[in-house]
Amino acid sequence: MSARYIGALDAGTTSVRFMVFDRDARVVAQAQKEHRQIFPQQGWVEHDPLEIWANCAEVMRTVLSSTGLTGNDIEAIGITNQRETTVIWERTTGRPIYNAIVWQDTRTDQLCNQWLADGLEQEIAHRSGLPVSPYFASSKIRWILDHTDDSMARARRGDLCFGTIDTWLLHRLSADHGHVTDVTNASRTMCMNLETLDWDDSLLAALDIPAAILPEIVPSSSPDALGVTAPDGPLGTQVPICGILGDQQAATVGQACLSPGEAKNTYGTGCFLLLNTGRDIRRSAKGLISTVAYQFGDLPAVYALEGSVAMGGATVQWLRDEMQMIDEAADSETLAASVPDNGGCYLVPAFSGLFSPWWRSDARGVLAGLTRYVTKAHVVRAALEAICFQSRDVLDVMLEEGSVAMPRLHVDGGATANGFLMQLQADILGIPVARPAITETTSLGAAYAAGLATGYWESEEAIRSGFRVDRVWQPAITAQERDALHAHWLKAVDRTLNWVD
Ligand code: ADP
Repeated sequence: MSARYIGALDAGTTSVRFMVFDRDARVVAQAQKEHRQIFPQQGWVEHDPLEIWANCAEVMRTVLSSTGLTGNDIEAIGITNQRETTVIWERTTGRPIYNAIVWQDTRTDQLCNQWLADGLEQEIAHRSGLPVSPYFASSKIRWILDHTDDSMARARRGDLCFGTIDTWLLHRLSADHGHVTDVTNASRTMCMNLETLDWDDSLLAALDIPAAILPEIVPSSSPDALGVTAPDGPLGTQVPICGILGDQQAATVGQACLSPGEAKNTYGTGCFLLLNTGRDIRRSAKGLISTVAYQFGDLPAVYALEGSVAMGGATVQWLRDEMQMIDEAADSETLAASVPDNGGCYLVPAFSGLFSPWWRSDARGVLAGLTRYVTKAHVVRAALEAICFQSRDVLDVMLEEGSVAMPRLHVDGGATANGFLMQLQADILGIPVARPAITETTSLGAAYAAGLATGYWESEEAIRSGFRVDRVWQPAITAQERDALHAHWLKAVDRTLNWVD
């Protein structure tokens, strides 16, 4: 039988999933599994890379066994992944030398402050497009090398491999245990030069990161397979791996934001707003990131301006798991809708500091405006509003610096299941919010990257023509109400600053 489908392995922050798509971009089969969030100390967040790999293998096997499909029915697969999360393993054994340090982890704050004190800010921003922050991979690489036995020396000798989760999974999946990453993931390390799309020797020297540890950088979509799955692996046969995209870039592709000026916001663990800027590298002076959106085959790279918010849906997870205010994430909708407003209460979830546009790692969370009137429902509503206000702060800068008009915002991600949240977002932004028919845009983007490479989808036009909007929320409050809410929010943001000495 000829191959009929494209697979996407989507390794997110909270769970991994494997999805199989047909030519009409419909989900034919899927399986998903959550992994542990490990919090060893305040501000530390880790994952077990072997658990992530085992879960990936399990969801791939589950999809095949539950549908009767075999690896031969899958023409190619794409990988998409939580970005910046850093794994280092032994080249010969493939054994990780430490847990994965997750993008939300702030343990490298001091090292980043040292880099700032050394005057590296301008050079890093100019070469990599990024602000100095523990968010990106470079300081996490340094932490592992500096805090585990003899690792810096082993890294210099070439005995160790660094990878973001895409690289780690490709290494495990592929028959030849390849060591590659794509341009979008590499653009999140602080070690890649945005113009040359290669590792930057001057940055590597300044940050003291051994070149021998780094993977090869490849396009996001490549007909010369980036790897081929091992026949004794979860797909049971050789399937070419033809696409890799960081999760936010994958969602940008899955939302068909393929022309300059098109943007999407994803509401997953964090919130990530990406604006396609075409072949131009736009440099932000106000806290946005310049990053690679995608590079298809031999074509030039397409860039994006990005605003990253650390605590999006994770704020709701915190209400559920740590505060035990709700049993399920979906309960946040009913509870928030049970009160007419936030009762004067504002939550700023600066739990990992503040990302875009503030970039303040000294900030910590604040619950402001409390009176005896405030109930659990108000706090839950304030948490949902916080997700929307953070996105607004990013969008305000993006509209100003990107000099684009945005008739509506395209949204996706797990938290867009919450209709109340989407209405709040339209109210707080003052523009319509549109959710696509296929909300699994991250997986779909990875599938598109792989399927474009093999010719399963002929061109970018196929992506555009397959895009459908399912639901649009219109703003329903006045500009005065919006501005009054936002002004209070900004006051609350101010209260979070200068907390960590
Ligand atoms: P990721 O890819 O980052 O793992 P997902 O896109 O799977 O994230 O979305 C999961 C996030 O969405 C979780 O943080 C969860 O709290 C949040 N979430 C899921 N359903 C809802 C809901 N109904 N209301 C609010 N948040 C939700």
